[in-house]
Amino acid sequence: MSSLSELYEQIRDCQKCALAQGRNLAVPGEGPENAQVMFIGEAPGYHENRLGRPFVGAAGKFLEELLASINMRREEVYICNVIKCRPPGNRDPLPNEIESCQPYLDQQIELIRPRLIVTLGRHSMARYLPRASISKVHGQPTRLGGWVVLPLFHPAAALHQPKYRADIEHDILKIPEILAQMDGLAETQPQQQAEQLSLF
Ligand code: URA
Repeated sequence: MSSLSELYEQIRDCQKCALAQGRNLAVPGEGPENAQVMFIGEAPGYHENRLGRPFVGAAGKFLEELLASINMRREEVYICNVIKCRPPGNRDPLPNEIESCQPYLDQQIELIRPRLIVTLGRHSMARYLPRASISKVHGQPTRLGGWVVLPLFHPAAALHQPKYRADIEHDILKIPEILAQMDGLAETQPQQQAEQLSLF
């Protein structure tokens, strides 16, 4: 069994926080072990909790449309969430829930080693850019440690608010550009990042 499958078993059996009691299925994440791009959402919703798979409701359908706009399919990217169990009523994840799940997400990143991490929504962005405001930094790739992180609005927010929709449709187009320029980014980004972060 691969390390990723072992990790999925641990997540499915997890009892580290109170969300375990209310869940139907934990949602570890899915996608190829060698995916170049990893999308990190916030938390499973109603449909994800029923099926044990990430982004299978309306937000997932929109994410698939966004991927199609850059000639990518969901089967070729890795998709997971900051927390692996559905919060009651889809409320925001609590700090202790995010903390309990953090080792799972960290291990996923270490095992997949994606070239690009795309955060979807505030809670996911906050794991990497805790002081940033999503309305300021969405669509701006940032090199952090060994990873390049691209923060995007959450597809569910974009479905309800036309302004965010235009932004996410525009920002997703950066993914192929970033992958193509990844080597050049190593030289140009640290200075831009320092300037960008000093604004917050
Ligand atoms: N929203 C998320 O953040 N994650 C999902 O898996 C589904 C909806």
